[in-house]
Amino acid sequence: MKVIVVGSSHGGYETVRGILAAQPDTEIQWYEKGDFLSFLSCGMQLYLEGVVKDVNNVSYATPAGMQAQGVHVFLNSEVAKVDADNHSVHVIDHASGQERDESYDKLVLSVGAVPNILPVPGHDLKNIYAMRGRDWAIKLKAKTVDPDVKNVVVIGSGYIGIEAAEVFAKAGKHVTVIDMLPRLLSLYLDQEFTDILTDTMKAHDIYPAVGQGIKSFEGENGVVTKVVTDQGEYAADLVVSAAGIRPATGFLKDVVDLDDHGLIKINDHLQTSQPDIYAVGDATLVPFAPTDKLNRIALATVARRQGRIAAQNLLGNDLPMIPVSGSSALSVFDYHFASTGVKEGTSAKLGVKSASVMVTDTMRPAFVPESDGNTKVWFKLTFDPTDGRVLGAQIMSKADVTANINAISVAIQAKMTVADLAYADFFFQPGFDRPWNIINVAAQKAVASLN
Ligand code: FAD
Repeated sequence: MKVIVVGSSHGGYETVRGILAAQPDTEIQWYEKGDFLSFLSCGMQLYLEGVVKDVNNVSYATPAGMQAQGVHVFLNSEVAKVDADNHSVHVIDHASGQERDESYDKLVLSVGAVPNILPVPGHDLKNIYAMRGRDWAIKLKAKTVDPDVKNVVVIGSGYIGIEAAEVFAKAGKHVTVIDMLPRLLSLYLDQEFTDILTDTMKAHDIYPAVGQGIKSFEGENGVVTKVVTDQGEYAADLVVSAAGIRPATGFLKDVVDLDDHGLIKINDHLQTSQPDIYAVGDATLVPFAPTDKLNRIALATVARRQGRIAAQNLLGNDLPMIPVSGSSALSVFDYHFASTGVKEGTSAKLGVKSASVMVTDTMRPAFVPESDGNTKVWFKLTFDPTDGRVLGAQIMSKADVTANINAISVAIQAKMTVADLAYADFFFQPGFDRPWNIINVAAQKAVASLN
């Protein structure tokens, strides 16, 4: 069997790996339109902050390593057209300028997404950057050490925007984060958490300009100098635009069914409307466990699971995609947070009724001194007020307690209730936590609120 995989980031990489693990003699052609295999944007902040020194190390695969496993790797090679009826793709090799058609038995699309360009005057000025992929990583890195860059404006306060803000604040720049939503990180955390994080960011010279819409970029000699919103003007030597993404699916319009946003419609076996064409990753809609509906969840974790499952299915196995909870984590200076599923702030948009309980406590028993790392933990549990079904949770602390969110993610997937979590068995050792884990404490409070 001949399989063509398009895109070499998380989804494409995991598909290739999955096929190799299950049937290593499969003929695999792997196409990437960029000049680098498998750059992982998740590692970008670590590179920009100098933790990872070489940008080329932010990857899991090399062409030589994959070729040694029998995979035919094609860089600078864009799959520009798909002919589903004839099971073939049209490839443009941007390095040589040559074009050719290639046949496939099964095709996997992991074409992902590209950063949104805000359609406002001045969007094409110089020094307006994005934060995705290796090329932008290299350009952004140069700006972290450019003494002419004093003011950085980040647009978008999702985790990508906040990573960018922290990078440039640590590099000694004055940073403004503009978002049309009323709070930084508001799709990830409720206000109890974001109030604390916003104060922390302000203390590190990051200024939040929230509840504002971008009207234009202005510049001199073709280079951006300020960002104008409906409420103010912000000096900018560099703009990092992290205001959402759009799927890279323009070439698939008449090939497979897309939704109104250009996302590829897939079934639970990750097949598109063309059964021999599979799709995974940021360009697809994903089943969201808390609501049992399809949702857009642009996470590497999702792309990885889809890639592995697509590999199994195209090889003839029967492995449906499990709904995901949409869990993510981030550090913001001294704080570490993670969240999953529905938040109080997102439940209305998701069309679910929710209730929440909040618990703040020390991480370990009260007798353990703060000097031994016994720091405060904030935890919020969100559930369905009619039946107690667990819908989501958020956690934050200066200690890394984020892994608790994985337990909630599994609880959401297993459709557990707060009653199930109230007495759930979690370990205790005073070096780590308390006899009643904070999940137990919150769930008991939630059960009491339901009675
Ligand atoms: P993409 O990563 O978008 O990659 C698509 C690839 O396909 C690209 O290399 C592109 O060049 C190639 N391609 C596209 N079209 C074609 C074509 N026609 N022909 C050939 N090649 C093509 N997720 C997490 O879970 N945890 C994190 O910590 C995290 N951190 C992130 C940090 C940043 C800064 C960013 C930007 C994202 C982060 N993500 C994180 C999200 C994660 O990176 C994405 O969800 C994931 O990369 C999606 O993978 P994908 O395979 O769908 O597509």
